Amino acid sequence: MEEAECASRLGKNFTSPTRRGFPNVPFMPSTFHKTGALRQETLLLPARVEDYVGPDNMARAIEAFVASLDLVKLKFCHAVRVAGAGQPPYHPSDLLKLYLYGYLNQIRSSRRLEREAGRNVELMWLLRGLLPGYRTIANFRRDNVVPLKQVSRDFVMLLRGLDLLGGEIVAIDGAFFDGNASKGSIVTRARLEEQVAAVEREIAQYTAALDANDAAEASQPEAERHSHANVAGKLAALIAKREAASADLAKLAASGQTQLSRTDDDARLLSKNGQSVAGYNVQLAVDAKHKLIVAAETVNDGNDTGQLHAMAAAACEALGVETLQAVADSGYFNGEALKACEDTGIEPFVPEPRRGTQAEKAGRFGLEAFSYDAEADEYVCPQGKKLRRQNGYKTDATGKRRIRYVSRRSDCKTCPLRAACLSEKADRRGIERWEHEEVIERHRARMAAHGAPMMQRRKALVEHPFGTLKCRAGYRQFLMRGFAKVRGELALMVLCYNFTRLLNIIGLEKLIAWLAAQYFLAVFYLLREVLTVAPGVLNECYLAGGKSQPIGDKPLPRHTTARSGMCFAT
Ligand code: SF4
Repeated sequence: MEEAECASRLGKNFTSPTRRGFPNVPFMPSTFHKTGALRQETLLLPARVEDYVGPDNMARAIEAFVASLDLVKLKFCHAVRVAGAGQPPYHPSDLLKLYLYGYLNQIRSSRRLEREAGRNVELMWLLRGLLPGYRTIANFRRDNVVPLKQVSRDFVMLLRGLDLLGGEIVAIDGAFFDGNASKGSIVTRARLEEQVAAVEREIAQYTAALDANDAAEASQPEAERHSHANVAGKLAALIAKREAASADLAKLAASGQTQLSRTDDDARLLSKNGQSVAGYNVQLAVDAKHKLIVAAETVNDGNDTGQLHAMAAAACEALGVETLQAVADSGYFNGEALKACEDTGIEPFVPEPRRGTQAEKAGRFGLEAFSYDAEADEYVCPQGKKLRRQNGYKTDATGKRRIRYVSRRSDCKTCPLRAACLSEKADRRGIERWEHEEVIERHRARMAAHGAPMMQRRKALVEHPFGTLKCRAGYRQFLMRGFAKVRGELALMVLCYNFTRLLNIIGLEKLIAWLAAQYFLAVFYLLREVLTVAPGVLNECYLAGGKSQPIGDKPLPRHTTARSGMCFAT
């Protein structure tokens, strides 16, 4: 196609390659596809970085949120300006914005964040062109674990201030997240003992081979004998390996743990449904109103049974309520946890797993066949005979005290149900009851009445945040090591989840307006405390901030979070 024809067809989009010094490059304008400008062309880009960040850009929400934080009270490193020699540090607000933006956009490694700060226009806008190095970025996350956790907790207070938390029902669940450690770096006692035994077998084989060679060569002349330096070297390496494994065994015994992790001290091999993970068990408590996370914890116990009360209590504290309903799956069923919940005003809903007693497995009457008479404190068997309480308690493997109830031999001797009730050797039936079994009985009654709808709600509530964290945000693995740092990283993940959720619920505009109002109120309270001015003047300031309620001489009702000092009107 001729250049003139191209020009006429493409109009102002036409750029002649020959005029731009592209010798012999065939010019193939397409009428079927959109074509970009030539890279060598001088473009008039918007003059300000501000123009690249639209009014609905999430970066603006991050900017407003970080501006609303009191980083000095939160105890971020370098929040207090100190004059000194050398380069001044980066302000923690800039690095916090960088991390929030990164975690919201699946950019978590310090090296990637460093690269993005130099090429991502939104980050250029957020950081005003600052380019912190990856070490600075990594050190910020490492050194500010406690403040980051506090920011995440304070964000829950912010959600309370926005009336987005119901505070009536929370769903609790756990999921395994990979740690910054391989499966091979975590060993159990059995595996270490196997290693020691295998190395000892190899050492014995080498030693026997050496002895046999020595015996064979003893009769040969000196010149014909071979050097055994190679075999001796291998033997020395095996002995060193055995010593290392033995030292690990001793270390494991001294720690009282069941596993030894060589890379990340706190990561563990966790198994569920035939799959194993080298990492942590992340626990979440999710409020039912808007599926916002109100409490999060990281443990390295693969079993959820011990987590119910701790998570429900943490949710109560975060929500500022005395009582709530906590719903969890059967993995959380634990009599002591149920009792602890009841004692602290929490109403748990946890399906009871059907484990079955030994008698049931052998085809005999299970516990359900016996009814308990609370008034008489005795059991009644299917034949209508009584099983009386024995003196004293029996402590089981889990430390629970159990009371034993037994039938009369004379009753069982002539009983027609004997074959369905007793084993061949037994002459009477015994039943054990936990000393607080009434807690489980109340829970059973509660589950029978309301369990089914609560279980349906549980799935819809708590599996959504885990799905979002793992699949949308890509948080499948911790980048940090050790409980302290991993918990700090989880706080960042939860903060970003809640942040995204909040923007989806109320929108960016409302959030920025609300943060601005809070900021105004915080400044107002500060001024009111510090300055001695006429209340009328302050009332005018208050009314100018969009509030219609006049202020008298009495102190304003206010709520200040104990840890951060963020203020919320109550
Ligand atoms: S065997 Fe004894 S305990 Fe069992 S049903 Fe008969 S009387 Fe009751």
